[in-house]
Amino acid sequence: MKAGGFLLPYGKRNQMDIYVYKRLQTEIGGYIWLMERKCQECGETLNGRIDKRFCDDQCRSTYYNRSNGAGNNLMRRINGILKKNRRILESLNPNGKTVVSAKDMLDKGYNFSYHTNSYTTKNGKTYHFCYEYGYLLLEDQRVSLVVKEDWVDQR
Ligand SMILES: [Zn+2]
Repeated sequence: MKAGGFLLPYGKRNQMDIYVYKRLQTEIGGYIWLMERKCQECGETLNGRIDKRFCDDQCRSTYYNRSNGAGNNLMRRINGILKKNRRILESLNPNGKTVVSAKDMLDKGYNFSYHTNSYTTKNGKTYHFCYEYGYLLLEDQRVSLVVKEDWVDQR
């Protein structure tokens, strides 16, 4: 039997599913269309259960490890920013309390978009923390730096 085929994405349930329609010439003339499923990892033809998506456990774990990789990369990137922020606050505030300019922080590469937690005092001042190192924005681009050893217990 001769087979030609084309790729067809199947439905919206999972855009990664790959189905191939094969045109098979029958012996009595004419042809039929057969749907063939492929492994999402290696592209091997799948046999057996219709809901099968991988040819074996190895392909399954390779596929899921790779898709988790994107999340891990994002976490690594954000963890890196938080660590750098903490290092900058630590270096600018070795004695536990000081006032610096926001420019000093920016010059060292501080990223104001990321912090681990925040704390608002009774009189409405919001401190942002990177782990135990925190800051409060003051007027005139000045920043008050603080250290809170027990920040985890702050609610
Ligand atoms: Zn496979």
